[in-house]
Amino acid sequence: MKYHLVTLGCAKNTVDSMRLEAALRGGRHLAVEQPDEADLILVNTCGFIDAAKDESIETVRDLDANRRPGQQLVVVGCLTQIAEAEVKRAVPGIDATFGAEQWDAIAASVGAASETYDIPAAALPILGQPSAYLKISDGCDRPCTFCIIPTIKGRMHSGPNRQLIAEARMFAAAGAKELVLVAQDLTAYGEDEGERDGLAALLEELSAAVPDVSWLRLMYAYPGKVTPRLAETIAALPNVVPYLDIPLQHGSDAVLRRMKRPTLAKARRSLEVMRTAVPDVVLRTTFIVGFPGETESEFKQLLRFAEEEAFDHLGAFTYSPQPGTPAGDMPGQIPEEVKQERYGRLMELGQRISLASNRAMVGREVDVLVESREPSTSQTGEPVVVGRTYRDAPEVDGLAFLKGTYPMGALVRARVDGALPYDLLCSPVPVPVRG
Ligand code: SF4
Repeated sequence: MKYHLVTLGCAKNTVDSMRLEAALRGGRHLAVEQPDEADLILVNTCGFIDAAKDESIETVRDLDANRRPGQQLVVVGCLTQIAEAEVKRAVPGIDATFGAEQWDAIAASVGAASETYDIPAAALPILGQPSAYLKISDGCDRPCTFCIIPTIKGRMHSGPNRQLIAEARMFAAAGAKELVLVAQDLTAYGEDEGERDGLAALLEELSAAVPDVSWLRLMYAYPGKVTPRLAETIAALPNVVPYLDIPLQHGSDAVLRRMKRPTLAKARRSLEVMRTAVPDVVLRTTFIVGFPGETESEFKQLLRFAEEEAFDHLGAFTYSPQPGTPAGDMPGQIPEEVKQERYGRLMELGQRISLASNRAMVGREVDVLVESREPSTSQTGEPVVVGRTYRDAPEVDGLAFLKGTYPMGALVRARVDGALPYDLLCSPVPVPVRG
């Protein structure tokens, strides 16, 4: 059977799709580029926020409108988990729906066995780049009042250690130079098995299992859960980059209380643990602006906190109410124009801090991981390739523009010549000839 799979949403959904594809390929089904070549069209949806919901439904509707007689349309993932009836009402022609995490059932319904992790090299790196995501757990036990994820994904469940090591080895064999560890809550890894510091232990095993993967990177740590052991492990392992993403969501304790998130003191403690143990650590965070009841003075506390902590990378979202979450029904919903205005102020501050952090890199030497297939030409007519340094995560942070012509996946020693608000300008450093 030929299938065409469309994946919407976040990096974690990309990993889910990859696992589904591994099962489909294991069942000898063949991926095709175009939907009209397929016998089976699969859509892995996202239902996290309204915009993602609308995009998922629009995509399914378009695929349905253009499909040939006899082509099956199957819709799976987060949106069908929480709003199956709504999806079916919007597109009545759908042949079948499955919720999130039902990979076994989906695979079985099309005659493929799951639990196969024989991901062929061609399936690798995300979007054809030398990086891949490794999802180490799914689901979440935290009580954040704005978030629908625990309803969609259920309790936190860690991926079996042996499976994660096998996946990492397969990525390494296929040429990945970077593995980005993701989860809803990375620092909870192992807690469902009664383990403490499970993430640090997993990192040690991964680091030894894939020594050729130069960068292991951690995204989505929970404030207050960054232990000294974790920070020391990050510092000690040669192929774990000194980088951590800790979504903090706000800088006012009153708002954090309404969000049912850890206090600012806990957030500060996690940042301090990282800064103490990990030299040159790069810290990324995200904030939500316009949470119900957010006053101008609470928002100013957020600005002050962001400025004080000077995060190297700062992302922001405007709050979007989710039906079925406690915050969706809270009084004091903030008008859209106020949210947008605050978002603009926060992003402006984030840009200023990021520029200062990039400027501090000028003159220093770093490795650049080349991501472009072909060089482009700079304004002065020189060839330039696009990549990233350890300071930037794929898809969410900045880039490094490197003079010269290098193949995708090369790690090139370079000096930082210039800084833009989000990106770095680099030149290769001549490698001394030995002997
Ligand atoms: S920790 Fe993250 S995934 Fe879990 S409930 Fe909070 S926001 Fe949602």
